[in-house]
Amino acid sequence: MTDAPPLGLTPLINVSGTMTGLGASISSRAVREATAAMMGHFVNMHELQSHASQVIGRLTGAEAGFMTASASAGISLAVAGCMTGMDPGRAEGLPCNPGPRSKVAVQLGHLCHYGAPLSQSVELAGAEIVPAGQSTLCTDHSLRRAMGPEVSSALYVVSHHVVHYGQVPLNRFAEIAREADVPVIVDAASEYDLRGFLADGADLVIYSGHKFLGGPTSGIVAGRRDLVRAAYLQNIGIGRGMKIGKESIAGAIVALEAWETRDHAGIRERERAALDLWSAALEGIDGVTARPVADPTGNPLDRLEVTIDARVLGADASGIACALACRETPIIVRNHEVELGCFQLDPCNLKPGQAEVVASALRELLTNHEALGQLPKDLASARNGGTDGYLSWGDAGE
Ligand SMILES: *Cc1c(COP(=O)(O)O)cnc(C)c1O
Repeated sequence: MTDAPPLGLTPLINVSGTMTGLGASISSRAVREATAAMMGHFVNMHELQSHASQVIGRLTGAEAGFMTASASAGISLAVAGCMTGMDPGRAEGLPCNPGPRSKVAVQLGHLCHYGAPLSQSVELAGAEIVPAGQSTLCTDHSLRRAMGPEVSSALYVVSHHVVHYGQVPLNRFAEIAREADVPVIVDAASEYDLRGFLADGADLVIYSGHKFLGGPTSGIVAGRRDLVRAAYLQNIGIGRGMKIGKESIAGAIVALEAWETRDHAGIRERERAALDLWSAALEGIDGVTARPVADPTGNPLDRLEVTIDARVLGADASGIACALACRETPIIVRNHEVELGCFQLDPCNLKPGQAEVVASALRELLTNHEALGQLPKDLASARNGGTDGYLSWGDAGE
C-alpha cells in the first residue's frame, strides 16, 4: 500500500471490524477536512452542540441529541442524567452521592465487555446495576421485578457481544419499563440503524461516531429532549473527563450527514465481492471451510467465517490468526470466536487493493504445511481481551 500512516507507524490491513485497538475506522476526506477546519476557530460549544443536536435529530428522529467523547462516555452520561435530572447540584455530587434513585436495571445476558466492562460505564456515574434474569434467560417477570422504586433507568444493549437468546426484546423491554415509569437507554454503539431503537421505545439511544459512521472518536446521545438535556448537563461534573473537542463534533456532524447520502447498496456490493474473492482463494484447501455469515445484530453486513479443522490442517484458528497478524504488513482478522475453531474476515474497512492482499496471504499460509505445523496456539490472548498488550506496553522503553 502506498498510503502508510504517519510517524512511521506500521501499516495494517484491518479485516476484523471497527476496533478501538486499531483506530476504529477510516474517515472520508470530507470528515477529515471538517475536523481540521474547526481547529482554527474559537466557537461557542453550546451553539456547536445545538447544531449537532439538529443533525442528530434529523438522522435519528430524536427530539434532541449531543456528542461526547465516546459511546462508553455516552452511557455514563445518560445514566447520570436519568439520576439527576436538571439539578446541577446533584450532577456535581456524582459519583459519590447518587441520590435515592441510583439503580440501573440491565438484563444479565447484556452485561458484556466491549473492550471494558459495560457495568463499569454505569458505575462511573455512581449508579448500581440491578441484574435482571440469568445469563441465558430473562423473563418478563424477572425484568419487572428488577424495576424497583430505586431504579432511574433501564439499559438495553444491542451488540454481538450479548447473549443472543432468552433475552427480552427491546419493544417488550420498553413496555415493561414504561409500566414502571423507568426510561430506557439503548447502547447501540455499533449499529447501522439510526432510527429503529427510538422507534421501538428507547428514550435515549447511544451510538459511536467512530465505528460505522467513520467519524472522529466520538459518542452520540439522542432521544427525549428532557433526558438529553440532563445527560448534557453532566459536562459540569463527571462528563468533564469525557470531553469531546470542537474538531470531533465538526467531523462527526459531517459523518452523520454523509450517512444520509452514503451509497449503501454500492458498498454492500463491494463487500460481497471481497467475500467472493476470499471464498475462491480458500476453495479446495483440505481442513478449511468458508461461508458468508450475516451480522448477528442485523447490520447489513456479511462476513466470511473461516472454519479450521485443526486435525486436518495441523494448526488451529488461533495460530492462523496470530500468523496473519505477524506478517510484515499485519492482517488483523476477527478473532472473537477462535476457541470455536473459526475466525471471520470483515470486509467493511478495506482500502482499495487490500482484499487481494488478504486473499493471497490466506492461500499462501493455508497451503504451506511446513509453516502451519509450527504455529503456536494462542487461545488465551483472544480470551483475555487484549490485556496482554497493555501489560507489555512500555516494557523495554518501547
Ligand atoms: C464499541 C462499543 C461500545 C463502546 O464504544 P466507544 O464509542 O468506543 O466507547 C459500547 N457498547 C458496545 C455494544 C460497543 O460495541
